[in-house]
Amino acid sequence: MERKGLLIVISGFSGVGKGTVIQMVLDELPTLRFSISCTTRAPRQGEEDGVNYYFLTEEEFERKIAEGAFVEYTRTFTNYYGTLKSEIDNPIAAGVDILLELNVVGAKNIKKLYPGCVTIFVQPPSLEALKARLIGRGSESPESLERRLKEIETESKDISSYDYVVTNTVARTCAEEIVAIIKSEHLRTERGSNKNIFPTED
Ligand code: 5GP
Repeated sequence: MERKGLLIVISGFSGVGKGTVIQMVLDELPTLRFSISCTTRAPRQGEEDGVNYYFLTEEEFERKIAEGAFVEYTRTFTNYYGTLKSEIDNPIAAGVDILLELNVVGAKNIKKLYPGCVTIFVQPPSLEALKARLIGRGSESPESLERRLKEIETESKDISSYDYVVTNTVARTCAEEIVAIIKSEHLRTERGSNKNIFPTED
C-alpha cells in the first residue's frame, strides 16, 4: 500500500507555549515537516519570514485568496491567517507528515477537508497560568490582551471536538505525549503501515 503522509493539526490558546512544544516535537521527529502559514500580523521578536510564517501585507494576502492559493484561511479581529495548498498537498502525497498549527476555525475546516487528519488541542494547566504567560510575553497591548482573552473563551467551547487533548504543564512532557500520539497514529490498522505477516487468500 502506498503510504500517504499524516496530517497533524495542533491548536491551543495563544500563550499556552505551543511554539516551544511544537519545536521539541519537530526536533524529535525529523521526518515531520511544519506547514508555514501566511499571516498579515507583524513578526514578534525572534520570528523569521519563511520560518515561523510567511509575513504578508493585506494586499498580498488578498491576492493569494483571489488566486485560490489557500486550503483554508481565517480572519481573527485584525489579521488574516491562512494555510497554503502548496504546504500540504504535494508533501502528503509524497508520504511526508505535516504538522499544522491552526486556530479552532482552521482545525474544523481542515478536519472537513481531510477527515483522516489527527487533531490535538494543547491546553494550559490553568486559566491563571495562561493569563500570566500572556502578560509576561509583553507583546500584547491591553486591547490585544483583551481580544486574546475573548478568543480564548470562544475557542474553549470547541476543545471536545479534538481527537486528543494534552496539557502543557512541562513542555518536554507535553512534547513527548504528542510524539507518542503521532507514533501511535502511524500504527493504526487502517493506515496499513505494518505488513501482514500471515498469508492472505488473494
Ligand atoms: P499567533 O498570532 O499567536 O501566531 O497565532 C494566532 C492564532 O492563529 C493561533 O491560534 C494559531 O494557531 C492560528 N493560526 C496560525 N496559522 C494559521 C493558519 O494558517 N490558519 C488558521 N486558521 N489559523 C492559524
